[in-house]
Amino acid sequence: GSSVQVEAGVLSIDLSAVIANYRFVQMKAPAARIGAVVKADAYGLGARTIAPALAGAGCRDFFVAHLAEALELVSGLPESARLYVLNGLAPGMEGLCAQAGIFPVLNTLEQARHWQRQAAEIGQKLPAVLQLDTGMSRLGLGVNDLETLLRQPGFLDWVDLRVVMSHLACADMPDAPANADQAKRFAEMAIRVPGAQRSLANSAAAMGMSDHAGDLVRSGLVLYGIDPLPGPTKGLRPAIALSARVIQIRTVPAGVGVGYDHDYVTPSPRRLATLSVGYADGWPRALGGKGAVWLNGVSLPLVGRVSMDTCTADVTEISAESIEPGDMVELIGQHQSVSDLATLLDTAPHAVLTGLGKRFERRFT
Ligand code: PLP
Repeated sequence: GSSVQVEAGVLSIDLSAVIANYRFVQMKAPAARIGAVVKADAYGLGARTIAPALAGAGCRDFFVAHLAEALELVSGLPESARLYVLNGLAPGMEGLCAQAGIFPVLNTLEQARHWQRQAAEIGQKLPAVLQLDTGMSRLGLGVNDLETLLRQPGFLDWVDLRVVMSHLACADMPDAPANADQAKRFAEMAIRVPGAQRSLANSAAAMGMSDHAGDLVRSGLVLYGIDPLPGPTKGLRPAIALSARVIQIRTVPAGVGVGYDHDYVTPSPRRLATLSVGYADGWPRALGGKGAVWLNGVSLPLVGRVSMDTCTADVTEISAESIEPGDMVELIGQHQSVSDLATLLDTAPHAVLTGLGKRFERRFT
């Protein structure tokens, strides 16, 4: 039986599906090593559990955004694992990074110089990733900075450039000409760093443009079972489900205002269920009057505004006997995917997933 539910709901994560998806990306990009993007607490799912599980399946490359995130994970991973800090080497971070054996992503000339100085100071060659800006205009060195760096005396003696990476701006649109432009620029720049492995692809690129996969894929979304491309991908396993609880049920006549600002007024007698999830849980306010939840295969529309800790579903369509307080309804799962919600909300699946709050019990199966 399930335990007493004391939180907003349950976020179930199927670790065997995460591992199956890791193997699935490996099959899609057989020539590459598959790395896991576990920043933002593995997109909110729980990096302290997910990263070691992936390590158990053979994954050795883990990407986070901040040093603090890397330090959180170090002790749970095997010695042979590599942790990369995507947001780069912030001033003063060199000592901590070197000490913990974490690989900074060098995004600027200045960061590269600081890492070189750190290596020279401790008298030990230090590994790093070099990020190249090939057209996203976000992070990384441009062509001129790359040339300056490669001419810098002693740089390559002290810094072991294991990987050169770049990020595609339009990977979720495989036909966009920007992808080929970036891939071409990446090839031209990467060739200037002989011996370094190449990392260009995120989930969408690994699945949709595997010829651009390079040596090291940085996959996030796809590991968590979310299709990075439009249209269903065969072979990907759903890995997460989200449910919340019915906390009260009422029947109201026609003409009754429901929720804040009486944004919704019942057009006819309705049965309403108040649910244990709200916008503070990353269940967006924009779903009010627009979204739905599911119970026993029936879609239950959300009516009125989403509150901070609750929202309201119209349950008139299901018989009064088949729903009662304590029942769990599906927010994400078989009938509604993260991608469906992202489409409905006109946002990215990453934003829906990372938005899910701390008040869901993470339940790993
Ligand atoms: N690489 C970089 C640099 C990223 O910023 C991200 C995520 O935002 C990823 C890879 C992973 O992307 P996805 O989750 O779409 O695979």
